[in-house]
Amino acid sequence: MTKKRYLTKSRFKLACECPAKLYYTRKSDYANQSQDDKFLKALAEGGFQVGELAKQYFPGGHDIKTLDDEQSLDETNHLLAQNKVTIYEAAVQVGKLFIRADILVKEGNQLKLYEVKAKSFDFNEVEPFITSKGTIDPSWKPYISDVAFQKHVLQLAFPECEVSAHLMLVDKNAKCPTDGLHQKFKLVKISEKQIEVEMTSDLTREELDSPILCKVNVDDECDLIFNGLEDVGSNNQMGFEDRVALFAKKYSDDEKITMPIAIRCGSCEFHTNELDEQKGLKSGKNECWKDQLGWSDEELKEPTVLDIWNFRKKDELIKDGRIKMSDVTEQDINPTPKKDPGLSSSERQWLQVEKCQNNDKEIWIDREGLQREMKNWVFPMHFIDFETTAVAIPFNKGRKPYEGIAFQFSHHVLHEDGSIEHTGQYLNSDRGVFPNFEFLRKLKAELEGGAGTIFCYSHHENTYLNKIYNQLQADTEISDRDELCAFIQTITHSKNGNDVWRGERDMVDLRKIILRYFYDPKMKGSNSIKAVLPAMLNCSQFLKDRYSNPIYGGDGEITSLNYKTNHRWVEFEDEKVKDPYKLLPKLFEDGSDEDNNKLYFDDELNHGGAAMTAYARMQFLEMSDGERDEIRAALLKYCELDTMAMVMIYEGLREFLK
Ligand code: SF4
Repeated sequence: MTKKRYLTKSRFKLACECPAKLYYTRKSDYANQSQDDKFLKALAEGGFQVGELAKQYFPGGHDIKTLDDEQSLDETNHLLAQNKVTIYEAAVQVGKLFIRADILVKEGNQLKLYEVKAKSFDFNEVEPFITSKGTIDPSWKPYISDVAFQKHVLQLAFPECEVSAHLMLVDKNAKCPTDGLHQKFKLVKISEKQIEVEMTSDLTREELDSPILCKVNVDDECDLIFNGLEDVGSNNQMGFEDRVALFAKKYSDDEKITMPIAIRCGSCEFHTNELDEQKGLKSGKNECWKDQLGWSDEELKEPTVLDIWNFRKKDELIKDGRIKMSDVTEQDINPTPKKDPGLSSSERQWLQVEKCQNNDKEIWIDREGLQREMKNWVFPMHFIDFETTAVAIPFNKGRKPYEGIAFQFSHHVLHEDGSIEHTGQYLNSDRGVFPNFEFLRKLKAELEGGAGTIFCYSHHENTYLNKIYNQLQADTEISDRDELCAFIQTITHSKNGNDVWRGERDMVDLRKIILRYFYDPKMKGSNSIKAVLPAMLNCSQFLKDRYSNPIYGGDGEITSLNYKTNHRWVEFEDEKVKDPYKLLPKLFEDGSDEDNNKLYFDDELNHGGAAMTAYARMQFLEMSDGERDEIRAALLKYCELDTMAMVMIYEGLREFLK
């Protein structure tokens, strides 16, 4: 029997992003880059546990576990015959609309809907969901739209009932009441993409009385959604009910709602990557662009305004019909110098566009500017990289949800004579331990006392050390906190706190150096280390010569804490240097190549997506010691390459100046 094509809450959410997406969703012949994102994000942040924790705050509910639509509807309707009942995953259907409500509480003719989201919420904020113009804040709109859709379905299905809508969110200011709360939620892997949460023991009175989730009524915000108008293509604006009806009909009939090309296409998940193309998967994005613009396959490969780094006027140019990079003029970018030395953002954007338009493949380097910067750098040079995460349910008593957790670092040293050492690393893989202070003690032992410039890549390391500083300030029980705070102040600059400082060894952000003084057209619009390293290796003869020898690790000239046999960072394929990250072992042996690729190379997953997910697996998933050791070993190698990559980028830059 074919499954009915209902408009569900996730499909409604997708249609709110772009109604055309409804046509491509759940079709196995179309590529979908976000298929695993939600799963990975939930795993990394502890979102699965939040769903289970929410149920614990509504004791005595009935859990509808079946995934079968008809059976779940039967079970829900049977339970709703009672006057007073709480249902988890309640199924409600009306016409072509179908929802599974996270928590539904019935009391007489009152239905209270609770949608659980692992999103941080601050009770101290006045009007947290509303902008100064009286509209829903864009960062909250997907969540409010989701709950509004469910409220709408409930009202249609039970017109005699009074329905109220709530979000159940993670209370930013709550403090975890006990040490073992997060350990009570055991994640059990049912399949590669399915996880179940098992409670190992009941919550204590203390845990129930000091919840870390909060219930927020959003009826007023739902009204704003019900009364609002939204675009549904061809300059057509529609009210909420009409939109729901249109989406439901089009999805049910498997018909596409045609939408104009817009900036949102830049983040559309229905595009193909190399692996998808090898598998013969179709690109929804290409279909939309061909339909709307009449472009040929060749034209679809051309760079567009969506590829310009950090460019704010993309939408304006698209509306103007100037979508190809070749359509952009200098006036559009208006490259303007800034006070700081090196390229400004607009100058860098124009450099990218100009090189692309002239088919110029040569690198650009500001030798004078770079030389000026390098004169300030002192040997021995230190290169550090952190892996961090933030989880919803804290590991320890007194800690807040989504507090920053720093669980890994790597440290390379480059000496004046050119010798390189991988001198230090830290990785916490023990379950339920808040690692930040130990992490900091180990980092301090690596860096304090010595001299030399310290490099990081991006502001992430500075941000995290500031977070740990604030955590230490709030924790009077740490005996060495003054020494630790003093150390942080020597290697960072302050961020929006009461204390203001700029340390004498304030870290140098190598990414900023790249942004100001170096551009290789191979990097296109990305400046992440994963884009810069392969570009640098391909354009530097010095790096090619040096690292095509097996000099790294083992008994090679560069010491390594994790590469036990001699390793070559440079290997060639069709005369191009292979990306060194692709020479590493898979982080997850049980994952597909796509998973591993996505985790490590997708900028959208933010800093260290792979490491965060690996850490979450070690924290939350049941696994053997052997599996844990394998993940540990892979994580150590990945982080080591991050700092070695910085060393290679530095060496590449230095050689260009000779
Ligand atoms: S390519 Fe653009 S129009 Fe097509 S589905 Fe994606 S976002 Fe919508």
